[in-house]
Formats: sequence, structure tokens, C-alpha cells
Amino acid sequence: MAAECDWGGGAPMLSRREVLFLSAAAAAAGVGGRALPGLAAPLRYDLKAEKLTDGIWMVAGRQEAITRENGGAIANIAILDSKAGSIIIDTGPSRLFGEALAQLAGELTGKPVARVYNTHFHPDHVFGNQAFQRDKIAAPKGVIDGLTLNGSGFSDAMYFIAGDWMRGTDVITPGHVLEAQVEDFGDRRLRPLAMRGHTSSDLVLFDETSGFLFAGDLVFLDRAPTTPHADIERWRISLANLGGIPHRRLIPGHGPAEDNTRGLDQTRRWLETIPPLIRQAFDKGLDIAEATALPLPEWTSSIALARYEFERTVNHLYPRLEAETWPRVDGAAQ
Ligand SMILES: [Zn+2]
Repeated sequence: MAAECDWGGGAPMLSRREVLFLSAAAAAAGVGGRALPGLAAPLRYDLKAEKLTDGIWMVAGRQEAITRENGGAIANIAILDSKAGSIIIDTGPSRLFGEALAQLAGELTGKPVARVYNTHFHPDHVFGNQAFQRDKIAAPKGVIDGLTLNGSGFSDAMYFIAGDWMRGTDVITPGHVLEAQVEDFGDRRLRPLAMRGHTSSDLVLFDETSGFLFAGDLVFLDRAPTTPHADIERWRISLANLGGIPHRRLIPGHGPAEDNTRGLDQTRRWLETIPPLIRQAFDKGLDIAEATALPLPEWTSSIALARYEFERTVNHLYPRLEAETWPRVDGAAQ
């Protein structure tokens, strides 16, 4: 495997600004404090498994932001069958989701869970961990560190945004530190690849048996990438490495699973277009409000949440650009 891997890496803290922005975005979307129909009825995720090939299913996330309507079920989840048991890639946004997922995996495979992976520390991917045995949940050390640092901040934001769906959800960190070795499940072998860029630690899984590549949030398709914890240059390198892995099908973190390079191309195009657009706005002297109102390139019009993610990116990139341009005169850390 030619892909360059990175099993080290620290984890940045979720900034107060990001928590506040998530909360403000939820309030702006009208989800705060509004009475919702059917609230008295118990909430239930209606998980649908899409069969991708024999022994591999995807539970597709909705191409939306996290809301009180969708309960945070926006990320793709994969279920794989193996001799050793079922294998689950990411666990969704809440305890309730995780429990529904565990049940679905049991129905599909008829076997207990052998392994659960967390691809990165974002809550829509890992807050369902509680439904699984902790020692079966595996992730690179960087993912575990990131969740340890940011979990409670994410939890506050998730309870605020998704409300009742989150009831009883605790942050559970993976109990198994994943190393570079291939994971052998008898009739299925998964190769873990440690990358970064979307966050400080992004796990990719390559199924040597099927040729399927589970890219996590390093790849978004028909949905704008989220960048609050991103290192854009590292992300572009990771995309180039992913492109070098001969695979039969790519399963992105968000968007349809396809047997082409559309997800890789589209994510790369976003990263090569949007951050420079924001830098140009900053260099021209536009303020944050003016920058968020800029027109987006025509090709983004078919991409879900393009405007929403653009605004988020402006909101976290501008302070960084300001810090670079105007260093503090007292010499204190930014
Ligand atoms: Zn993510």
C-alpha cells in the first residue's frame, strides 16, 4: 500500500467560538425552544440499510446539518459481515442511534459485534459508542485523544441542537488503540490507514476482501465539507494518497457510495477553491459579514449545505487570518 500514514498527531481543542457558532446556527435554523409536533411520542431512528455488495451495507446519513428534526443522523455508517462477527464503521450521533444500529447489525448478519471503528472524533460519527462494548471500539490514538479533549464541548452543542434525541447519551472513548496492523476477521481483512486533514486524526479503512475504501470525512460527496478542525494542506495530501489506493468503491463520510473518483475530485475542488476565496476577501479588507455574503462558484449550486459550510469556514478562518496578520503586541499566545 503506497498510502502515506500518520499514526501520531495531537488533537486541537474545540474552541468556545465553535460551540457558540454551532449553537447560534441551531438557533438561526429555528430549532431552539420551539414546540415540535409529536414530542410526547418516543423518538425513534428509522435506520435503512442499503446493500452495497454481499456482506456490506451502508446506513446513509441525511445530507443536512444536525437539527432537532433529524436527530443528528447525518453521517454514513457501514456494517460489514465476517466470520468473526459484524463490523461497524462509526456509530452515529446518540445512544439511541447506537442502539438502533446494534440491533440492525444483528438482524443483517445474525452475529454479535466483533469490532466497531471510530473514523474521527466528530459527534455525528461517534456519539453512538455507548451501545457497544468499549473494548470492541477501536480508533487511532489521535482520534481517542481528540474525543477526550472535545467530547464534553461537543456534547453540550449536541444536546442544545438535537434536544431529546440525545437523552442519556454519554461520551464513550474507544477502549482499543488501533495500530497499523491489518485486522483479520477470518474471511475479511481490513487495513487501517491513519491520515489527517479533516481533523488531526482521520481513520480510513481499506477492505482487502471487497476492495471497498471507507474514507470517513476525508471525502464528502454532493455535500459541502466541514472544515472547523481542518488542516487544508494535510487534507489535500490525504486526498492524493487516497486517490493512489486502487479501490472498487469509495464510501464517503457524507454522500453516496460510488465506484468513481467524484467524491475525491469534489472534495479537492472545494478545498482548492473555497479557502482561497475567503483569503482573497480578507486581503481585500472585507469584514466577516461581507465575506459570508460573497457569491459562491456556480459549480457549488448542486452541493448541499454549500452556503452553510461556507459561512462556517469564514467564521473560523477569519480569526486565524487576523491572528496571522496582526500578531498580539504583548507577545502572549493567540
Ligand atoms: Zn467530521
